[in-house]
Amino acid sequence: MLFMEFSRYCERLEKIPGRLEMIDLVSSILPGLSDEELPVFVRFIMGRVFPDWSPQKLGIGPNLLYDAVAYVVGTRREAVRGEINAIGDVGMAVEKLLANKEQTSFFIQEMDLVEVYRDFERIAEAEGRGSQREKLLVARKLFGNARPLEGRYLSRLMLEELRIGMGEGNARDAIARAFGVDVSLVEHAHQAINDLGEVALLARQGPEALRDVKVELFRPVKMMLAQAGTIAEQIGDHGEVAIEYKYDGSRFQFHKRGDLCRIYSRKLEDVTVGLPDIARQLSAATDHDVILDGEAIAMANGRPMPFQYVIRRFRRKHKVDSMMEKIELVPWVFDILYLDGATLIDLPFRERRRRLDEVLREHIAPQFRTGDVAEAERIYADALNLGHEGVMVKVLDSRYMPGIRGRQWVKVKPDVETLDLAVVGAEWGEGRRAGVFGSYLLAVQDQGRLLPVGKVATGISDEMLVELYQLAKESVIAQSGKEVTLEPSLVFEVGYSEIQASPNYESGYALRFPRFVRLREDKGVEGVETLDALSERYRRRSQSGATGGA
Ligand code: AMP
Repeated sequence: MLFMEFSRYCERLEKIPGRLEMIDLVSSILPGLSDEELPVFVRFIMGRVFPDWSPQKLGIGPNLLYDAVAYVVGTRREAVRGEINAIGDVGMAVEKLLANKEQTSFFIQEMDLVEVYRDFERIAEAEGRGSQREKLLVARKLFGNARPLEGRYLSRLMLEELRIGMGEGNARDAIARAFGVDVSLVEHAHQAINDLGEVALLARQGPEALRDVKVELFRPVKMMLAQAGTIAEQIGDHGEVAIEYKYDGSRFQFHKRGDLCRIYSRKLEDVTVGLPDIARQLSAATDHDVILDGEAIAMANGRPMPFQYVIRRFRRKHKVDSMMEKIELVPWVFDILYLDGATLIDLPFRERRRRLDEVLREHIAPQFRTGDVAEAERIYADALNLGHEGVMVKVLDSRYMPGIRGRQWVKVKPDVETLDLAVVGAEWGEGRRAGVFGSYLLAVQDQGRLLPVGKVATGISDEMLVELYQLAKESVIAQSGKEVTLEPSLVFEVGYSEIQASPNYESGYALRFPRFVRLREDKGVEGVETLDALSERYRRRSQSGATGGA
């Protein structure tokens, strides 16, 4: 498939308002693609370049992209930025710039979809000194060969936001339809191998191939997530439940085969280098090949330390030893996904936990089982007294559902009314906040789109404002007056007093009195609250009029 053809499909998809029609179109394209094209196409239409489990990252910031485009159309970075500001969309602006140039250039080499992917691989592989130059050269080559429409989607792909509304759910349904297999099998395979591109190849082979997929070592599995809720509700719905402390640290996934082990963060990044103590403690605690799921916390004088101490270690790439002396990390393991060649994610939690108890000698998170609300409340009070964030209340018969924020795991903490939201814009501050961004625009996710729900300015300390500005300024895509558009990469946890239905935002909701709680450095944009979950919270709150809590 030519990249031009791909771009035309994107253009068509962008114009289709309805989900079903999109699925129709995509499912009609997939069977005609070669085995090489299929996984690339599937990832690309979702605005992703590499498999979700892969540590490969393009590492193209807006500036590099602008420089590449500027070179190709014979102008300066500022002129490109100006065009983007005027139009308000990177893809459209690049398209226009290339269209102006096209009248003067004669030679364009046709680009193939798979070749574009290979070039992206080269960009991702460029590392160390000179890597920016190398990335720039490849990006220039790509834009040099791009027709205007291709430029629109090339630039959006480089920023990994295609804006055609093709999320994982739609892609999954299209794959099932294209190859005549059950959606639940596609979903099952996706959860295990974490790459819809490869899942499409398996779907082509048939239902057996999808059914047989195994979780693999050193290919991180998306982490199962929790919804906010209450003890009484969860026991009311399920009777006996498993209760664990909710540790305020950082999530990790530990993979081990023989003497070899790797640790992945919640964003599925390989963080092994920074965490030799965790690697050592867990390797020593089992003789089996395993994938373990847990939370690492920082300890000082026998009490848990705040989350910030842990995240520093997860970010750390160098000088681990001196850092380690200051902050000791302790792993608490609460789940097992793989054991000696067997995939365990489809077993009920009760059974996984039994295996965990058998194969891990230490560092297992304590678990209490009860169907009695009063007893559960006592465990919750103990958890808080011990310095933990709260408790997790888990359904004993539930499978491990990678990447799903369901009610199988419910988190109960004193302040449950917070949301993790993507930062998609900012506004220059005034007065004391001049020179930095004074407020940030926040969004929920919905099928690959990010939809704003409010702006946060309260609760950010002056130091934090500067820190956030340093992080955000690299991602500025466009500016109009005092407002800037940011390439989504930061995630804020915010509190609020109420969710209101609102016509002012495309999401249909607005947060009342949002306040900044913290920067979620452990979370990527794909982990932010979904529109569905937000509607659900809105519904629950408006029904009960309650404020949550335990
Ligand atoms: P939140 O990040 O607020 O959505 O809460 C879910 C997170 O709590 C998980 O991703 C883990 O990082 C963390 N966590 C702490 N203790 C546990 C536990 N016992 N079971 C599961 N997750 C836990």
